[in-house]
Amino acid sequence: MSRVFSGIQPSGELHIGNYLGAVKNWVELQDSHECFICIVDYHAITQAYEVGTLQRRTLEMAMGLLAAGIDPGKCVLFVQSHVVEHTELAWVFTTVTPIGELERMTQFKDKSRRQESVLAGLLNYPVLQAADVLLYKADLVPVGEDQVQHVELMREVARKWNAKYHAGYFPEPQADIGKAKRIQGLDGRGKMSKSLGNTIGILDEPDQIWERIRPAKTDPARVRRTDPGTPEICNMYALHQHFSSPPVVQEVAEKCRTAGWGCIECKRVLADNIAEAFAPMRQRAKELAEAPERVGQILAEGAEKARVVARETMAGVRAHMGLLPVALREPAER
Ligand code: SF4
Repeated sequence: MSRVFSGIQPSGELHIGNYLGAVKNWVELQDSHECFICIVDYHAITQAYEVGTLQRRTLEMAMGLLAAGIDPGKCVLFVQSHVVEHTELAWVFTTVTPIGELERMTQFKDKSRRQESVLAGLLNYPVLQAADVLLYKADLVPVGEDQVQHVELMREVARKWNAKYHAGYFPEPQADIGKAKRIQGLDGRGKMSKSLGNTIGILDEPDQIWERIRPAKTDPARVRRTDPGTPEICNMYALHQHFSSPPVVQEVAEKCRTAGWGCIECKRVLADNIAEAFAPMRQRAKELAEAPERVGQILAEGAEKARVVARETMAGVRAHMGLLPVALREPAER
């Protein structure tokens, strides 16, 4: 069975962009693959964040993932900082990764423009990602297209370490972008993202979903109700394709092109269908909220399982790199 590693930042709210772009695929993969699903809190601290809310956001993300169908009986769900080997291997990998490779990462270039003084953590973000995946010797990394460059870097890091210390120790993971879907934000300005405030949470109540969808951007040509529109350029139509039945999608397209209905009516149908699709997840989340200690316990058990693999990988790394094992040091210390 091939092994999958995937990470998600502890943004608190799991939104439909995360769900359709990643989590739905993970839920399917856990039936056929050995999956490690990690809430990557050490990645989250590479940018400005609220210290006082990080714990809550981490737990809420775990709760969202469990509600969405991540099953700790089928996969390993854990928090990155609970398994110290992630940062240990990241340090090792910094010794085989050329700075030039990190500086040319598109995401680094974008994010570093937004930091007043560029921090080493941001530059080394893809090195930590390489450690995340290679610590478990994962073969497959489900990612969006914006992360493909980072998977290429992981492969290069694996090649460089293997060439220097032990041929074939780390596999070269493959990016799996087949099912990853890029979901546009409700403001139509780019990717759906919590930081941009353009999301719909999968655990939002029906009235919250409606409140978020009602002002969402549509085809600007539809100024008056009688103006025909082009559904293909409207994000509401794209969302209908995920949440409405094929006959409804067809109806949306026809009524949009012929001005057979207004955008508000179109959005109302969409909001109702999204609310219905996530009803079972809202129910699961309510059950989890009643037993929050259960979520902490699941994460602790996940970290324990992850550590077993991580420790074995690091033992091999240290041995192949010629680092002194603890057991050999003890007699000299007595
Ligand atoms: S009718 Fe629907 S698909 Fe057409 S522009 Fe309005 S919201 Fe978008």
